[in-house]
Amino acid sequence: MDFDAVPAFYVPSRTGKSLLVHDNYTYYLKNLQAHGRKQWYCSSRDMAGCRADVITAPARSGSGDVLFLVRGRHIHAPPSYYFTPDGKYVRKKDVYHRYR
Ligand SMILES: [Zn+2]
Repeated sequence: MDFDAVPAFYVPSRTGKSLLVHDNYTYYLKNLQAHGRKQWYCSSRDMAGCRADVITAPARSGSGDVLFLVRGRHIHAPPSYYFTPDGKYVRKKDVYHRYR
């Protein structure tokens, strides 16, 4: 058992892709790497220029992924998200823009 492992928590986004959630921040999948590792960029990278990223790796025991590396510091507050009735995880700002 690896007691230090923090399980990666994924939620489905509005577009159906998985988002990684860590400390109330969300990340989108950027790269698939060797050994099943994945690189995730902060969801505010494009909009806010945030450089934080996370590498996940397959859990050594059981299923799912664990947080392998968390890098950078966010330059913004965590985004506000909520779950839609069909289980999607949606950023409040997206909805605001959509219905304006
Ligand atoms: Zn960020």
